[in-house]
Amino acid sequence: MSQPNAPVSERTPRSVLVTGGNRGIGLAVARAFADAGDRVAVTHRSGEPPAGFFGVRADVTDPASLDAAFAAVEAEQGPVEVLVANAGTTRDQLLMRMSDEEFDSVLDANLAGAWRVARRAVRGMVRAKRGRIIFMSSVVGLYGSPGQTNYAASKAGMIGLARSIARELGSRGITANVIAPGFIDTDMTRELPEATAADYKGRIPAGRFGEVADIAQAALFLADAGYVNGAVLPVDGGLGMGH
Ligand code: NDP
Repeated sequence: MSQPNAPVSERTPRSVLVTGGNRGIGLAVARAFADAGDRVAVTHRSGEPPAGFFGVRADVTDPASLDAAFAAVEAEQGPVEVLVANAGTTRDQLLMRMSDEEFDSVLDANLAGAWRVARRAVRGMVRAKRGRIIFMSSVVGLYGSPGQTNYAASKAGMIGLARSIARELGSRGITANVIAPGFIDTDMTRELPEATAADYKGRIPAGRFGEVADIAQAALFLADAGYVNGAVLPVDGGLGMGH
């Protein structure tokens, strides 16, 4: 972690865990760390783990499954040094029609889930006196989004979470930063109605959605960076600038 400019072949492999690493952004992030020579584990809630990765089944809303997943990862590749809290979900609905259950379930997965994995990961990081925590937030956490009061609140909450960890554990060699992706081409955005997608593209200075590789690149940067802490890194083609 202290050798950001070392050629890949000379780096000490880091123990990396990516939650929700079986598809989309999480899988791209996992692949990027593996390509950089790190030991990478992924959590998957459903299906099979992606080929070539140490996969552990976990639901971030279930603390017991997370604890078991961390224990398995620690036994396989050592304590987690880089945590990418990526698992996330949406249940969009207009505010007036949104049920308590729709609100609570998204907050539980996105915000409380990220908090749970961070709480479990810092045990080893505090002992090692080093660690990197990267939270996958969203441009809508600060920009807002109609029909996403639950999702936007959960993603905004991740910023307070990261910054509190940065203040609490920064002196222990641990950083906690946030990536705020804009619209990235994954299953999540493929669900958007065509008119909504076109409307957003019109507002993105880049004029297009991003690629999962754009987010992976940001995660690699934050894992290397030793003096970036509590930052929110937008990767959104300019959509949210001005935050
Ligand atoms: P996908 O919907 O493609 O993948 C979501 C991942 O999260 C899956 O691996 C899913 O597992 C996992 N997941 C969801 N809920 C849980 C849970 N309760 N426990 C464990 N794992 C869970 O999403 P993306 O790849 O697009 O998004 C990844 C992250 O990036 C999310 O946090 C999302 O909010 C954020 N983001 C995405 C943007 C985009 O444009 N795509 C924009 C901004 C932020 P399973 O396969 O089992 O469902």
